[in-house]
Amino acid sequence: MPELPEVETIARGLAKRVSGDVIDSVWLGSKPEPLKSSAAQIVRTLESARIADVRRVGKHIVFDLEDGGRACSPVGKKAVGKSVRSTRATAQWIVHLGMTGRMLVCNPDEPVEKHTHAIAKLVSGRELRFVDPRRFGRLSVARGFQAPGSEPLQVELDRFVKLFRGRKTPIKSALLNQKLLSGVGNIYADESLFRAGIRPRWRAASLTRESLRRLYLSVQEVLKEAIALGGSSISDYVDADGEAGFFQLQHRVYGREGEPCLVCKTPIKRVVIAGRSSHYCPKCQV
Ligand SMILES: [Zn+2]
Repeated sequence: MPELPEVETIARGLAKRVSGDVIDSVWLGSKPEPLKSSAAQIVRTLESARIADVRRVGKHIVFDLEDGGRACSPVGKKAVGKSVRSTRATAQWIVHLGMTGRMLVCNPDEPVEKHTHAIAKLVSGRELRFVDPRRFGRLSVARGFQAPGSEPLQVELDRFVKLFRGRKTPIKSALLNQKLLSGVGNIYADESLFRAGIRPRWRAASLTRESLRRLYLSVQEVLKEAIALGGSSISDYVDADGEAGFFQLQHRVYGREGEPCLVCKTPIKRVVIAGRSSHYCPKCQV
């Protein structure tokens, strides 16, 4: 599953390639799962909108849309629920990639892949295609979209400490709780806890301010490193440039059960916490 650094990388790639372009028409497939807003709503919001920017919010890709400035939009043959509006406030097109979702920028002559659920034709002639074999990805539109939790790369230390103070759940579960921090997934939670020297099963409420401060710094360090490397992923997907594969952040604990800790050589342990695998060094994380 793409995590925050992958989504950040993909959003940046998309921003570079499609910002300023205008969505001409939208085709949506017949599978209902990928649509979190109604098909008519998605088409109405997207068609003739200008893509002002593409950014990451939590683990979502957010296209900031504004009025394309055209009095009416051309009628695309494949368009569904056509509606022309003369004015359009700013809106967002929100894409969650789920497990296997990909957002591709294609030329129209490129064959449409199986499991393509949405195609936005752009005025530049290119197409944005959403492909998702397993259909856990979601497309929606909104106004004033905000992720439910705090942004891990922007949250301040005091706020971070407050988020976890008083939580009786294991710190690992709290890190994965998207209502607290937005976008920290399993790999980066394990890696951050290792760097902070905190065992994943410890209750969040039992951690000292100093431990939480170390965790705060580790979370940011791990995410920034992974973003700098272009994200790392165990899943099969392609970035916005259509390039397969990402450079792998060297995982220090994640997926290394039984292998020696890179610091102390103790075998890495794996436990299941709230249904998720957690990896840690029993000596370094005490
Ligand atoms: Zn160790």
